[in-house]
Amino acid sequence: MTAVNNVRHWLLAPVLLLMILLGGCDIGNKWGDEKGREEGTLKVISSIVPLSYFVERVGGEHVAVSVMVPPGGNPHSYEPTPQQMVQLGEASVFVKAGSGVEFELDWMPRMMSLNGDLQVCNASEGVELQPIKRHAAAHKAQHYHAQFDPHFWLTPLNGVRIARNVERALVAADPANAAAYKANAGALVAELEMLDKEIRTTFGGVTKKRFLVFHPAWGYYANAYGLEQIAVEEEGKSLTPLQMQRVIQQAAAHRISVIFVSPQSSESQAAAIASEVGAKLGRVDALAYDYQANLRNATRAFVESMQ
Ligand SMILES: [Zn+2]
Repeated sequence: MTAVNNVRHWLLAPVLLLMILLGGCDIGNKWGDEKGREEGTLKVISSIVPLSYFVERVGGEHVAVSVMVPPGGNPHSYEPTPQQMVQLGEASVFVKAGSGVEFELDWMPRMMSLNGDLQVCNASEGVELQPIKRHAAAHKAQHYHAQFDPHFWLTPLNGVRIARNVERALVAADPANAAAYKANAGALVAELEMLDKEIRTTFGGVTKKRFLVFHPAWGYYANAYGLEQIAVEEEGKSLTPLQMQRVIQQAAAHRISVIFVSPQSSESQAAAIASEVGAKLGRVDALAYDYQANLRNATRAFVESMQ
């Protein structure tokens, strides 16, 4: 799945026509592996990559999961491909972040209209969403932008909520395998609670609890562990020269030694700021599949930057 970002929704019209003409035919159905074609396998679509980890772990052999925003795609601007809209018609469960990810806000109504039987699992149900921290951007046009910070999944304890929400959705959609879903969710929850303790301990010995990220994805994580996130970018837009100047001053004032970028965003402005203040570029990913390893890696990288 590449080059999907520039597919526009005008492409949907011919595809919907094709769907009607072919009626239930298998065209365009790719669930990634053979499992999706097996009888009795629950077909699940998740909106973003990290949520598919939870579906895989809780669903195990009983589910085939497909993800809407592919690895490397940007959920703040993504648009589904026509093929994905076809796939959606065959899915039983859709797992959404439910935290104001732009792609969901834009597309959920249309997706629901394509498959009235689709059960929607809100992965953030029960999570207390945090307001977005803005600098002096109150005057900015709000357009679709959520009032809440959408990146709730980046703490292990919110991961526990996700595991339980996915468990409940899979049990409801496929009661025959309820015991397996409950056992898998229980095991995952235990791991996540351990991971939370591990991260808490890691930051326990750190005094300079501040980090600078280009994309403001780590606010929940910062709150959970008593850290301060300095975020640079707002709404994925590139910075004006004035904003660049302000970030450079901030980074210098706080003696920031690493500027963290994510694989989904452009590095050129971050690199310019880094060279201006003599910092290195670091990498953290808000959207990696291997959820636990990713949080461990990010923790290690943040701690190193605080030395
Ligand atoms: Zn983001």
